[in-house]
This record gives sequence, structure tokens and C-alpha cells, in this order.
Amino acid sequence: MNNSTFKNFSYHNYAQLLNQISGYLPIMSYDEINSSTSRFLIIRHDVEFSINRAHAMALIEEKLGISSNYFFQIRSNSYNLLSKQNIDMILSIKKMGHKVGLHVHLGSCNENQDIKDYIINDINILSNILGISINSFSFHRPIRKILEKNLKIDGLLNTYQDLFFELTDDYENAKVRYISDSNHQWKYGDPFNLKFENIQKVQLLIHPDNWTKSGENNLKNFMYLIDEKNQEIRDTFREECITYPPELN
Ligand SMILES: [Zn+2]
Repeated sequence: MNNSTFKNFSYHNYAQLLNQISGYLPIMSYDEINSSTSRFLIIRHDVEFSINRAHAMALIEEKLGISSNYFFQIRSNSYNLLSKQNIDMILSIKKMGHKVGLHVHLGSCNENQDIKDYIINDINILSNILGISINSFSFHRPIRKILEKNLKIDGLLNTYQDLFFELTDDYENAKVRYISDSNHQWKYGDPFNLKFENIQKVQLLIHPDNWTKSGENNLKNFMYLIDEKNQEIRDTFREECITYPPELN
């Protein structure tokens, strides 16, 4: 990576990136795209650790007049999707005009289970929890075998199906250019240095957990994230313990 052109993971730079790409490509959601769509930019967010950070990013996009796609886990050990605070935040994200989908964690899917049934079951859970219909899903850390399946389920959109993604090692020439900030790095190319005038289709995967107002490196970003989660659990304990009687000794 060329350090002279590297831009940090700050909200300011994220907004600049969206402005830059949307100057060349129309921003679309998964359900707006079909086989005859010739140009698009899909903005996808997989939420791993913090619904607060997802909400902060959604607000930035709303200010820019941009709609994107947020995928939440129901099996995360980092956040509780069933809490009232989190349900309210996700519904607020939806109200801003963004789409909400399932981020599929296959960790509990055993080899005898049909993967389609597993996903449909999780989609139904998410839909029931939020009280909204869900029609899209993204895989969490999919292995190649899963991507090769090009899984299609009636009534649902897989972010890795061939309409939105091409599994190839020659990623620079893929029919859909895949850009991802996974692991806090641009493994498939730094979008700040790409020439979007030469690209027709883009799926941009941005993890809200990676980004902050100040744009920190990986270690500091996680330290901030831990601070935020720490504050969240302290607030929760305070609220729950307020009615406890005073200690006598
Ligand atoms: Zn993930």
C-alpha cells in the first residue's frame, strides 16, 4: 500500500469516498438490480460488533442523501439484537431509508442441516424480532466452498450471488468490482486510488465497526470500540441496579 495516498478510516474520508464514487455510478440496492442493469454501486454494511456504530454511519449517509444496506447478525456474541435499544436503532436505520438484511453466521449450522433451511429460519427470526420483512442476506466470513455454491433462495437475495459478485482471483477485472475493508485493510484494492470512470459495477463492503470520526489504526480502533462497549455495559448495569438497596457493610 502506498502510504502517501492512503486515507484513514474516518467519517470524513468515508463521506468523501461516497461522493467520489456516486459521481460515476448510480447507487442501488440489491432488489433494484436485475440481469439487464449495466451500471451500479451497491453499498453494503456487515455489522459485527456495534449497532451504535452502524447507526452513526447510517446518519452520515442520510445527510449525504444516500441509501445503503445494513446486515445484522442474530447470533453475534458482541451485541444483543433482541434488546429494545438495539431494535429501536435498527428500525431508526430503516426509517432513514436504508435496507436491513441478515448477516448469516454459519457457526451453528451442522453438516446434516440444509443451509437454505438454516438461512430461511434465521431470516424469519430477524423478521419477527424487528417486525419488518427481510429479503436479503450476506454471509459472515464465507469460505470459498460457500461462495462457489452461488446460493439462490426463492424470495431472498444473496449478496454473493452472481448478479452482485464474481468469484475470481482476477478481482481487478471481475464483472462486478468487489471492494472490502475487511480486517481494516483494502485487500481488493484501495478505493481512494481507483479510477471509477473505468468501472461499471461495484459492490462496496464497509464494516461500520472499522470507522470512527477520527479514523484510527486497527489497534486504536479496537481500543475505542472496547471503550464504547464498556460504557454501554456500565450504563446498562447502572440502569438495572438503581433500585438495589444500599449496602449495610
Ligand atoms: Zn461478517
